Amino acid sequence: TAAILDGRLLAEKVVARATGDIAALGRAPGLATVLVGDDPASALYVRNKRRQCVAVGIRDLHRRFDADVTQDELAEAIRALGDDPGVTGILLQLPLPPHLDADALLALIPPDKDVDGLTETSAGRLALGRPGLRPCTPLGVLELLDAHGATLSGAEAVVVGRSSLVGKPMAQLLLGRDATVTVCHSRTRDLAAVCRRADVLVVAAGIRGLVAADAVKPGATVIDVGIHRTPGGLRGDVDFPAVSAVAGAITPVPGGVGPMTIAMLLANTVTAARTL
Ligand code: NAD
Repeated sequence: TAAILDGRLLAEKVVARATGDIAALGRAPGLATVLVGDDPASALYVRNKRRQCVAVGIRDLHRRFDADVTQDELAEAIRALGDDPGVTGILLQLPLPPHLDADALLALIPPDKDVDGLTETSAGRLALGRPGLRPCTPLGVLELLDAHGATLSGAEAVVVGRSSLVGKPMAQLLLGRDATVTVCHSRTRDLAAVCRRADVLVVAAGIRGLVAADAVKPGATVIDVGIHRTPGGLRGDVDFPAVSAVAGAITPVPGGVGPMTIAMLLANTVTAARTL
């Protein structure tokens, strides 16, 4: 059966590395998390990010706005954070209330403070293969693959999902490591047949149990990005019990990609502080 890629353990190592890097930096990075309104899921995510930041020595420069904040007010606040030398990272928690234009607000984040890696400039840098801040979830996947010692150069990599948050940057990161990358999405014909080609299979479709054992080449490395709350606990996009009998290595849900995402936010915050 498959080796389990333990994201909790690796996240602890990434966090320890970030803590050491911050001490060596000689001054505390400052992360401004920007939360608008009171969506409970967003509030929970931001709370977790803030808690972990403080634990590693990042200054918590949180800003919260009421759901009826205007575009201009929020734009002004983000510009001010961009100009503030004490703020080394800015994270605009999405989604925003529908009256706000998220793209226009993201565009106000200076690229070197874009610790989520989601601005147009960061996406452009990634697409062009230039240095820059990368989106946290796909960066965490790469870290998991590297820690496992997966060979990426020349490998067949299949990414299921093409979102700007996960699938697309994942494919670009794998391309940057010289994998032969195929991207699947909701219109892909015969998903299982394409997935079976993969030495490295990254699944980020948001559909519980989408990838079954017949979609996995024996010995493949399978990374499950999906998160679904079920009465039995968190589940992923991969049928874990069946696929772990076929795969060579697999991430569990929970305890795989999830913990890596916040760890990479801390790592990005350190990178940004170092660059600025
Ligand atoms: P999204 O809804 O933006 O994108 C889903 C993608 O999957 C789309 O590109 C779509 O074309 C593709 N897709 C949908 N149905 C498909 C099908 N039947 N076959 C093949 N492709 C299909 O979602 P997202 O933001 O990319 O997130 C994907 C999943 O990852 C969600 O479950 C989300 O909760 C989870 N997620 C986890 C983390 C983490 O830290 N672990 C972070 C971000 C997202």
